[in-house]
Amino acid sequence: MNQKFYRKLDQRLQQQHQSGLWREQKTLTSPQGPLVLQQGQTEPLVNFSSNDYLSLASHPELIDALHQGAAQFGIGSGASHLICGHSDAHLELQTALAEWLGYESVTLFSCGYMANLAMLQSLFGKSDRIVQDKLNHASLIDGARASEAEHKRFQHCSVASLQQQLSCLSRGSSSRDSSNRGSPDKASISRKSDDARIKAVVTDGVFSMDGDIAPLDQYLPVVNQHEAVILVDDAHGLGVLGETGRGCKEYFNLDAQQLPILMGTFGKAFGTAGAFVASSKTVAESFTQFARPYIYTTAMPPALAYTTHKSLTLLQQDAERRQRLQRNIQLFRDIASDKGLPLMPSITAIQPVLLKQEQACIDCAAYLKQHGFWVGAIRPPTVANGSARLRITLNADHQPSDIERLVACLSQWWRTHRAYD
Ligand SMILES: *Cc1c(COP(=O)(O)O)cnc(C)c1O
Repeated sequence: MNQKFYRKLDQRLQQQHQSGLWREQKTLTSPQGPLVLQQGQTEPLVNFSSNDYLSLASHPELIDALHQGAAQFGIGSGASHLICGHSDAHLELQTALAEWLGYESVTLFSCGYMANLAMLQSLFGKSDRIVQDKLNHASLIDGARASEAEHKRFQHCSVASLQQQLSCLSRGSSSRDSSNRGSPDKASISRKSDDARIKAVVTDGVFSMDGDIAPLDQYLPVVNQHEAVILVDDAHGLGVLGETGRGCKEYFNLDAQQLPILMGTFGKAFGTAGAFVASSKTVAESFTQFARPYIYTTAMPPALAYTTHKSLTLLQQDAERRQRLQRNIQLFRDIASDKGLPLMPSITAIQPVLLKQEQACIDCAAYLKQHGFWVGAIRPPTVANGSARLRITLNADHQPSDIERLVACLSQWWRTHRAYD
């Protein structure tokens, strides 16, 4: 055993403990849903912490679909998409999604994290610039790093800051660009390399820890002015936003020209697992040719693709489910703001309560748990220092009475503990 190696790991873990940042996972002994049982507990908790917004994760028709899919296609895909793992269950899901969202092509990925890595790594390179919202999902940050493009962050949802990061002088025109070295006409070459530079604007549609929506309609003129390309990760908007659940694209009434590259996940409102990118044929072909997280991984189980297709059908047909979610969101906001709880400006299923102090979050989440509610306590570094929060998420199958009891319990705690502030 390598002592030095394990000593180093132990020290780092100790440090994590001491700085109060320790993360811990709980084990469920029940299916995912509005009521769940944690291992070691006898009473179920009302679950306000999942991303299963439409409560599809344990829907009987999806469970049936997984059985049918397994019977028809088996479990494992057996290989990557490009070797022999691509089945007609995948193809049918791709076609249905492309048609539903109005794109030429859809590419499937095993999860959203990989879709985002693939997207940024394969479409952009050293000579390009990626500009993204400061609060974007970690996978987009990692994707930008993997691309080796110049990487800038703009202030959260700020059009002015986006404008600034797109305008600022690029590193290509500085002496750091080695391709210019020794050239007789540095200026003209650097101008040329700037012409070749692609600028990408990358944003979450709905922000995962804040629940607010990127002002895509205001970004588009700026994007066009700079001849940039915009990429949107709508993990939390799909199935939730828009009359028919088509997410932020529908919310802002945009088409595939305006929103050319749209990423979505199946692990949230769809209630299954996996992800996709909707795009033009050219972009999709670029994934097939160049995206390492697409090429070098086993295709998602075909039975799961089959199940996700069924989930899409439910999502399309069952508008009532989305309306129930909307009513629950509205109910929560109405009564929580009545009680003076520190809500954030969100109309989505993600409703953070901004307690600010980490200890307050931990204590409040523990208090809620004692009273039968499971709520996530989100602390730095997941969110900025001083902005620790409870991340309350609503879903379609929460009972109004559950929401009322949650808010009553929360405000009870808030009244006696707001002195933390
Ligand atoms: C959850 C999430 C992802 C990652 O998706 P997975 O399928 O869970 O890997 C990517 N982006 C955003 C905004 C997310 O919320």
